[in-house]
Amino acid sequence: MEELRIDTAICSDYERLLKESQRALVNWRERSEEVSRFGLEGKGIGDELQKLQAGYATAYHRLEQHGKTCILCQFTIGFSESEPPGSVFISPRRELPA
Ligand SMILES: [Zn+2]
Repeated sequence: MEELRIDTAICSDYERLLKESQRALVNWRERSEEVSRFGLEGKGIGDELQKLQAGYATAYHRLEQHGKTCILCQFTIGFSESEPPGSVFISPRRELPA
């Protein structure tokens, strides 16, 4: 199976950072879902979720910074101050278990 291809050349750094942040987001979401599904509680769980969230935040921040500073990305994807890559993502915050 070939991966979906986009005609425009995409910066490989951007691609890597995007994948990293998506993976971090998925890890965090899946764990959050487990926690709410099984009603898991405790400090250990809270710490773990916080760590996963921080991991995502860090990966996302890197991606955002890259989009702001990489000339290739600004050229190919058209990032600018007014249009951060954040629009690509759905904010995970509102999906956290209450
Ligand atoms: Zn780039």
